[in-house]
Amino acid sequence: MTTLRKQPTRTCAACRSKDGKWTLVRVVRLPDGGGVALDPSGKRAGRGAYLCNSEACLTLAFKKGGLARTLKCQVPGTLEAELRTHFAGLTPAPLDTSKTNPE
Ligand SMILES: [Zn+2]
Repeated sequence: MTTLRKQPTRTCAACRSKDGKWTLVRVVRLPDGGGVALDPSGKRAGRGAYLCNSEACLTLAFKKGGLARTLKCQVPGTLEAELRTHFAGLTPAPLDTSKTNPE
């Protein structure tokens, strides 16, 4: 028997919709003034905010300040570009399992 672990639910900082923790992209405010960083592993320590893997939510999170509000700190504009690159590299539905890509 396989044990299915229920996915924890997180709320998108932009559109406020709830989704599984691993569907959303985590952004973390690093402790001790370490700034804000993208957290693809979802395991870094610090206050986290989540975003849908969507261009619209990314734009909204920065434009409306949803991300800064959730993290309770300033979010550098450079992070928007970083997230955009990250989103572009994500495969929404990896159906082809024959190709193994470490990234
Ligand atoms: Zn969203």
